[in-house]
Amino acid sequence: MSSDAPSSLSSRKAVLGAIAASTARPHGPSASSNGTSASISDYFGINTFGVRQMRAKLPRHAYEKLVSAIRHGKKLDIDIAPTVAQAIKEWAMSRGATHFTHWFLPQTGLTAEKHDAFLTFDENGQPIEQFSAAQLIQSEPDASSFPSGGLRATWEARGYTAWNPASPVFVFESGGSRTLCVPSVFIGYNGEALDEMTPLLRSSDVLSAKAMELLEILGDKGVYRVYTTLGPEQEYFLIDRAHFAMRPDLVMANRTLIGAPPPRGQQLEDHYFGGIPERTQACIAEVEHELYKLGVPIVTRHNEVAPSQFEMAPVFEETDLGVDHNQLVMAVLRRVALRHGMQAIVHEKPFAGINGSGKHCNWSMAIASDNALDGMNLLKPGRTPHQNVRFLVFLAAVLKGVHECAGLLRAGISTSGNEHRLGANEAPPAIISVFMGAMLTRLIEDIIKGKAASAGAEEQLIKLGVAKLPEIEKDNTDRNRTSPFAFTGNKFEFRAVGGGQSIAWPVTLLNAAVAAAIEDVIAQIRAERKKTKNVDDAVMKVVRKVFRETTPIRFEGNNYSEEWVKEAAKRGLPNLRRAPEGLAELTTKKAHAVLVGMGVLTEPELESRYHVRIERYIKDMLIEMHTLTEMVDTLVLPAAYEYAGSLAASAAQAKAAGITEIPQVDRANEVGKLAKQLKAKREAMVKLRDRAENLHEAPTKAAMLLTKEGADIMADVRAACDALELLVADDAWPLPKYREMLFPV
Ligand code: ADP
Ligand code: MG
Repeated sequence: MSSDAPSSLSSRKAVLGAIAASTARPHGPSASSNGTSASISDYFGINTFGVRQMRAKLPRHAYEKLVSAIRHGKKLDIDIAPTVAQAIKEWAMSRGATHFTHWFLPQTGLTAEKHDAFLTFDENGQPIEQFSAAQLIQSEPDASSFPSGGLRATWEARGYTAWNPASPVFVFESGGSRTLCVPSVFIGYNGEALDEMTPLLRSSDVLSAKAMELLEILGDKGVYRVYTTLGPEQEYFLIDRAHFAMRPDLVMANRTLIGAPPPRGQQLEDHYFGGIPERTQACIAEVEHELYKLGVPIVTRHNEVAPSQFEMAPVFEETDLGVDHNQLVMAVLRRVALRHGMQAIVHEKPFAGINGSGKHCNWSMAIASDNALDGMNLLKPGRTPHQNVRFLVFLAAVLKGVHECAGLLRAGISTSGNEHRLGANEAPPAIISVFMGAMLTRLIEDIIKGKAASAGAEEQLIKLGVAKLPEIEKDNTDRNRTSPFAFTGNKFEFRAVGGGQSIAWPVTLLNAAVAAAIEDVIAQIRAERKKTKNVDDAVMKVVRKVFRETTPIRFEGNNYSEEWVKEAAKRGLPNLRRAPEGLAELTTKKAHAVLVGMGVLTEPELESRYHVRIERYIKDMLIEMHTLTEMVDTLVLPAAYEYAGSLAASAAQAKAAGITEIPQVDRANEVGKLAKQLKAKREAMVKLRDRAENLHEAPTKAAMLLTKEGADIMADVRAACDALELLVADDAWPLPKYREMLFPV
């Protein structure tokens, strides 16, 4: 913004002018920066110490032990740690790193790091670089300021981070400096999980154990691990940084708390898959460039439904890694956008009335083995009847997991941001159900009906026509976009996850739910085996039973319709509309049975999860209310008064000039009336806010008050502000408008 802008120009107009006049040339990543060349494959993963780099830098025995630890999901052998640390240090320094940090996921949804220099001094006081095995493996950050939900009193700040070798170390470049990041778990002194990664790893382990047990029963040999795969599609907005900076709500809460909808929103549907504007394109290309260096395999980019909304998706990876990579996606997006004068927003609902951002988590299970089964996707239909028995039993287990733990899955996506998205007319509703597609639905129903049930498993499947099953992968055109949890041919797509969330938590709950279901399925098969000799025959009997019992969770229709809400109630499916209601599911017997029962969380850890999340919800809501109060007091009402003042002056002038028609008076009265209403609503909001703040000893009550009454009262305040926005002279309005933020000039 130029400083000699005429003072009559509102700051908003000056910003607009500056944006329109900006001569900045959009430029993407420069091809030669930091040793990268034009083709992506040449520099992909250059900043990670992955398998490729390890083979080059490590002695053979150390390499083999490390890779085997990673492949088997085991801890690193302590005797090779010094060799690995030395190799990592040399590699990191060759990439320009001066510092290192353990990089972990506290329960804030973000990542945390504390940098230490490699620099130390030898006995002669000479500076040297050092990175020991101990520093690689473990670190003790002062952990007292991370949320622990009462697990660890702040005066007893002992927590430590420990390297998770399954996720490769990487060098993060920022502001010209480079830091070696060691992906880690974060645990308390007695091993309590203080982070998002530890429960995820535990849930992966238990799912692996249960799935292997089931495979063993099915007669599949040589399996040493079952892992889950994850492909998260990240939606986000990119808007001008100058607009962002002028909106206290965006800066404080990452979403607009007021703002009248523009005459043209997304109804033209002209943005979806349209061309990406050049400046945005440059920004996205640079984001991808940075991510490629970090080994994040982003392969798709496109416009989303809403104006200025975009999506990027990676090739799926093993879940633990996919989760870390999604954190990097969000972090790199934010940072690189700033370089382009833009702001990336991953919040679930930054602009009311416009589509929000989700993170579709594509998820499946796969086999690690020494034989031909290696890499096999358990949710991919096979070619032989036996392969399809395996496919059907795992499919049945997922249906059972989701059916029995629908409330728990809802808890995993209950954040203040996602509350605005779930149930709105665009995103999946708050009711969890599963979409299977026409072909599988027919097959499932036929199995339930007992078509061909008298035959053995093999003959039965042939009669049911499962030979056609592999076709469903290609046949996902009829995909139901309204479903929160959809089968898409060879994987499930958990679509209700929020754009800004760390996905570790929802996936942890999904893994745990499916692990518990598999355990149950195994028990049923074992019981059935007493009557039915042939394994596949016994399995198909259990599959039939599970398909029948999970019928209520399957829904193929329009999830946004009013009828579905009624139908779901009849079926006994939970409809938890508000985030605190969803979170309350963490306090149920079911949550205890599944999470504690499967060894994913201890009882105190589970309790702490509830507390951390409910506290977070309260904080989010209170921050929003404080921000909104301030905006009303210092921006909206002053603008209204100023405008009313100018109308008064103009009316007086008109009168003095002998003009008889003076509509300014009516307009000023209208503004006055709205301002008065706004003031009253603002008072009510502050009262409610105080009540909530006084409930800090009873967080559940505070959260319920905020969600039940608080959200409504904020909506009232907003409505009054938006009415004023549409009345007050454009020049007098201090905040960037939706049309300005969302439709770049
Ligand atoms: P769509 O927009 O049609 O949902 P995308 O191509 O945007 O599809 O995203 C699909 C995502 O699903 C990709 O990230 C892809 O890697 C991922 N995916 C494909 N197969 C699997 C699988 N077996 N397990 C997990 N994710 C998968
Ligand atoms: Mg998609």
